[in-house]
Amino acid sequence: MQLTIDLTGREVLVTGSATAARQAVRRYEAAGAVVYRLSTPDGAPGDGHLPERPFLVAMVDDGEPGWEPLLQRCLTAGIPVSTEPAPGPEGHVTLVGGGPGALDLLTVGAVNALRDADVVFYDRLAPYQLLASLSSAELVDVGKKPGHHKVTQRDIEQLMVDSALAGKNVVRLKGGDPYVFGRGGEEVAACVAAGVPVRVISGVTSAISVPAAAGIPVTHREVSHMFTVVSGHAPLTDKEHTHLAGLGGTIVVLMGIGTLPQLAAGLRRAGMKADMPMAVVERGYRPGQRTTIAELGTIETAASGCSNPAVLVIGEVVRVAEANRNHAGASAELSRLAASLLEA
Ligand code: SAH
Repeated sequence: MQLTIDLTGREVLVTGSATAARQAVRRYEAAGAVVYRLSTPDGAPGDGHLPERPFLVAMVDDGEPGWEPLLQRCLTAGIPVSTEPAPGPEGHVTLVGGGPGALDLLTVGAVNALRDADVVFYDRLAPYQLLASLSSAELVDVGKKPGHHKVTQRDIEQLMVDSALAGKNVVRLKGGDPYVFGRGGEEVAACVAAGVPVRVISGVTSAISVPAAAGIPVTHREVSHMFTVVSGHAPLTDKEHTHLAGLGGTIVVLMGIGTLPQLAAGLRRAGMKADMPMAVVERGYRPGQRTTIAELGTIETAASGCSNPAVLVIGEVVRVAEANRNHAGASAELSRLAASLLEA
């Protein structure tokens, strides 16, 4: 039977142990009711003031004896009683950093969380091609809706929270690290606000690993002793260009393809030299990975055919990669030569 009643401002007494009543309390509060709690049949200390005559009594089955007399009293007094099943085991959310897309850059924690999940919400940059082999959970793509519209951030948070409240073990799989331009903080806040237990498993961020895929170390002794990770989602201000150019370290830009021309021009205006080496690394660890190397003054033309996802690296460390590559190339050349000499 299904009854629809407006509970706004109505006094609802929810009975049952704290754990068992947790979800019912949230449901009634969400429905606008004024919720009172009775956690044991004899009234546990701390239950506080209880209404004389509640509009409704929600009796959550907590598996404990002793609730029968209360049920009888309500029925005699004509107070409606809703008997509620005990919720399943407590659901929770795990935010998982999936790394840049390579199976061997997933953490052990990520693999374990995926294995134990009931449902996984993933998006485009998470290593989703590998998911089916790592998890028997229900896999939900929140990067796109069936109509190819993006699911909004609010909708994603709602989906996670609702699934956890339904008792599910939820994994939210994100590309790289959840706290690096990943909106991880907002998703944690949404869980906390809904009373859903949440934890975060850090991931390997593309800010470091994608340059590495192209042989670029973000720091290098005597070349760069700092690196700054910047979002290129929106153009920077001239003040920011000046600060960045003044630091003298490596600059790593995520989501930077769209604003690359503004960034290059801004850093030039801020005094960075035109021959500062620069790299664009597209699709790190994926088929079609490509590195474009140029200089601050020439990158706009050189990278005109580049597309997201890509990581930009600005700084002398780009030359380290080139030197290492040439060195590696040279030693490969030498060993080939040695081998052919030995054969002869
Ligand atoms: N939380 C992520 C970043 C999310 S912002 C992390 O820590 O890596 C999304 C941006 O990350 C993309 O626009 C791109 O700049 C970068 N990115 C993520 N994965 C990438 C990959 N495999 N190759 C190149 N860039 C990548």
